[in-house]
Amino acid sequence: MMQIPYVTPEQDPTVLEQADQLVQKMRDLVNLLSHPSRKYRLLTVDDRQKLVHLNYPTALVNNVAFFTERVRQEQDGKFVESDQQMVGFTSAAFRTELYANETIKSTLVKSHCGRCAYCETLIQQSEYGDVEHFRPKAGYSNAWSNNLFRPAYYQLAYDPRNLFYSCSICNQAYKKNYFEVIGGNQINAPETEQAILINPYLEDPRRYIRFNPLNGRAYPFDLVAAFYSQTKGWTIERTSQELWTKPRMIPGQSNSITVATSDYQVDQDFQMWLQGTKDISLRRGSSNINVLGLNRPALIKSRVGHLRHMRGLLWASQGQGPDKGAANQFLQGLLENPISQNAITPQYTSLSIDAIQTWNAEGIPGDFAWIESYDRMLEQCNEEPSAVETEAYNDAFCYMLFEHELQLAGRRRLVYISDSDKVYGNPMGRRAISLAIDWSSEQDNSVLMMQGQKLMRSMTIRELLDEARHNPQIYRQFQRYEIWVTGNFPPFKS
Ligand SMILES: [Zn+2]
Repeated sequence: MMQIPYVTPEQDPTVLEQADQLVQKMRDLVNLLSHPSRKYRLLTVDDRQKLVHLNYPTALVNNVAFFTERVRQEQDGKFVESDQQMVGFTSAAFRTELYANETIKSTLVKSHCGRCAYCETLIQQSEYGDVEHFRPKAGYSNAWSNNLFRPAYYQLAYDPRNLFYSCSICNQAYKKNYFEVIGGNQINAPETEQAILINPYLEDPRRYIRFNPLNGRAYPFDLVAAFYSQTKGWTIERTSQELWTKPRMIPGQSNSITVATSDYQVDQDFQMWLQGTKDISLRRGSSNINVLGLNRPALIKSRVGHLRHMRGLLWASQGQGPDKGAANQFLQGLLENPISQNAITPQYTSLSIDAIQTWNAEGIPGDFAWIESYDRMLEQCNEEPSAVETEAYNDAFCYMLFEHELQLAGRRRLVYISDSDKVYGNPMGRRAISLAIDWSSEQDNSVLMMQGQKLMRSMTIRELLDEARHNPQIYRQFQRYEIWVTGNFPPFKS
């Protein structure tokens, strides 16, 4: 991760106006519906029609999500469970053309030099790249709950300062809807938040995350710098220099074949120190590495290949060949002005800085031993894709229980909230609650399509989603309220 210069897209004023109006309508709707008396209600078809008559856009009204969730929240250092009403929107309520249009996208591609804001991989022709919301627009999650909290940062959905250009793996398989804030999310005052995620427009990511040229891995520089500051009294500059000179002093490191690349004693001291360190603000580097999957196998392999290439460049700069001058100029420029150099070598600039500094600190001419070790590492790199599902989930699916069914265990009714199929609402005039699906663990639960008491079909939630993507007919099945999911569901405590 590198700092990214923020550039304001030159947008058509009518687009900005439409976005402003839409956000204002959303704000009004959330205020109107966030009344405590509505704890166990879904919006009925009639309710929605009334809202449309009050001049709320139909596409917005039909994608309002009303959830009652059992949530765990931290209060005074303890986790407390409670029911929480959530009024918000599904992703379908947002107008993609107002944030992912050509003007915004081309501005982002340029300011990001075509790289993913998070993993710094050059987004190739084969992939479009995502216009990614830093603060999630529809629902947000955190490290200790799989629930989607609503509403999310809908007010920032069209704000270019909240948009980054990202590869689909960082966005859809890792970051997803994660947005954790120390002390709790403040969706109406995001400027006051102490976010865990690093914002590359506002912060220098190298304060938190750096790279080890011995193995191509990202490591939490903030934590390591705190370790050396507290145990040796080193400044950040001193720590940087020491780690460049002796990369084996980066603790907790191994290479792709789990050979330790850290000094044994350093590792021991670091583990001891970690046990006594509870300061959560020192965990931003490691949290970002985990949440964004910055040490996923495919990425490490790509970085090791990049290191091999950079090492070749260093060798050229120290030799007597015709490329010497150009290579020298390039490497020097990368250290002096890394952001403008991105246009020449867009990938992995942060890693390149650590690698060049390390090789320069060695003070020996480039040799082939390094190249051979990278080749060995490349051969042994695990190419297995990570176990994380890359499938983007559909946040309009949810469970629904009528009030008299709250004590049901082992099964829940599956519904779909959307503007096209009219299956939301409550046609029988009963009060109901809706509950979000835990996508990390429930995709293999069994879906039972009933007709009265008769089972018509069964499949998993994942299969249902796959089929729904190609077969819009499937949504008609929802209209009968006879799709159930069996799973390990406890009765809902009201
Ligand atoms: Zn990425």
